[in-house]
Amino acid sequence: MKRKRFFLNEDERITQWYNIVADMKTKPQQMLNPQTKKPVTIDDLSKIFATECSRQELDTQNAWIDIPEEVLDMYSTYRSTPLIRAYGLEKALDTPAHIYFKNESVNPLGSHKINSALAQCYYCKKEGVTNVTTETGAGQWGMALAYAAKSFGLEAAVYQVKISYNQKPYRRILMQTFGAQVIASPSMSTRAGKNILTRDPNHNGSLGTAISEAIELASSTPERCKYTLGSVMNHVSLHQTIIGLETEKQMEMAEEYPDMVIACFGGGSNFGGIAFPFMRHNILEGKNTAFIAAEPASCPKITKGEFRYDFGDEAEMTPLIPMFTLGHEFKPANIHAGGLRYHGAGAIVSELAKEGLLSGVDIPQTESFSAGMLFASSEGIIPAPESCHAIAATIREAKRCKEEGKKKVLLFCLTGHGLMDATAYEQYINGDLIDYNM
Ligand SMILES: *Cc1c(COP(=O)(O)O)cnc(C)c1O
Repeated sequence: MKRKRFFLNEDERITQWYNIVADMKTKPQQMLNPQTKKPVTIDDLSKIFATECSRQELDTQNAWIDIPEEVLDMYSTYRSTPLIRAYGLEKALDTPAHIYFKNESVNPLGSHKINSALAQCYYCKKEGVTNVTTETGAGQWGMALAYAAKSFGLEAAVYQVKISYNQKPYRRILMQTFGAQVIASPSMSTRAGKNILTRDPNHNGSLGTAISEAIELASSTPERCKYTLGSVMNHVSLHQTIIGLETEKQMEMAEEYPDMVIACFGGGSNFGGIAFPFMRHNILEGKNTAFIAAEPASCPKITKGEFRYDFGDEAEMTPLIPMFTLGHEFKPANIHAGGLRYHGAGAIVSELAKEGLLSGVDIPQTESFSAGMLFASSEGIIPAPESCHAIAATIREAKRCKEEGKKKVLLFCLTGHGLMDATAYEQYINGDLIDYNM
């Protein structure tokens, strides 16, 4: 019988995250404090983030960072996640390529975001913080944070973009089930929210309004309450490297090594998570794996963005980050892959892209859903609309392998399931989805 699933034993579990910056020959440019234009310090960052996360954010020296025992303990409820050989998809495509995917959808929250939420909440708890806050759009990050906060005995306040709060109630209800306070943004609970509502009482909200409110809450009680983020920042990608480190061992069990690693790309955390552990062999040992960031054609920061300093958020609250960006005021089209509607790429991936260690491909929305449908029927898993972009990019490569008669090993990250995105699939099936190009 063919071996399809690869799991790690208890004694093979990953106990350290990998910090690729320590191995990069050219380090990413420093982030700047927008007021002083000087490099940000741990002190600057720890006004809003947990101190340990702030330290990790600026760490350029240590390649390996111990995962705290308490976080390992929480990871052990759902990790290792399976690496699967997608025989069904290979057969459907009649390709000589070997296709593997790392399944990050199999945890209580349904996406990879929990890997960093647990770490961030643990550090907050350890540092004596009692409350955490964040923003969320569709709700994947908010849900992961709500559950992680509950697990470590913290109170969570999640500002959710008002239009999603009203139109997509399921994840909001689940956040509330985990005990989080979910506030539709803009709200009257902050100065930023009141100002927006005074100008426009019918404002639908945006990630920008929600970030402003969350950061205002955190900075009004800096000792008690910290802000958390689900992507973009270096420490978030660091926590996600557990994905690639496990995969590396699982690929050894499969006796293969990837020629190509593919991940969908919002702010870059799952991409860094699966790619960096393999990329270190390119940097240190001259391996030739290709790394592909699959981004939506409507929000193509890697292929069409400009490399420069920009804010990480619409509200101009974050440090200035050296990034590939479409501009922090860029308003992406309202595609279903909400987690990919982000204007820029994190500092590390941006530097690596500049050096040619990775490249981007742009996937139109309908192509992503068509890939998701094929994957669903050949592998039995309904993928998240974000993950569909990685699947579409993989299918393009598998077809090229067929044309060229090459047996490449392709690996992609399945970031989440799409069980709460059924209406998006319905629109695709009914032919109601359209493509947006920038
Ligand atoms: C948030 C999200 C993404 C994109 O975020 P990255 O930081 O780029 O990884 C991808 N897939 C799912 C399911 C998400 O929730």
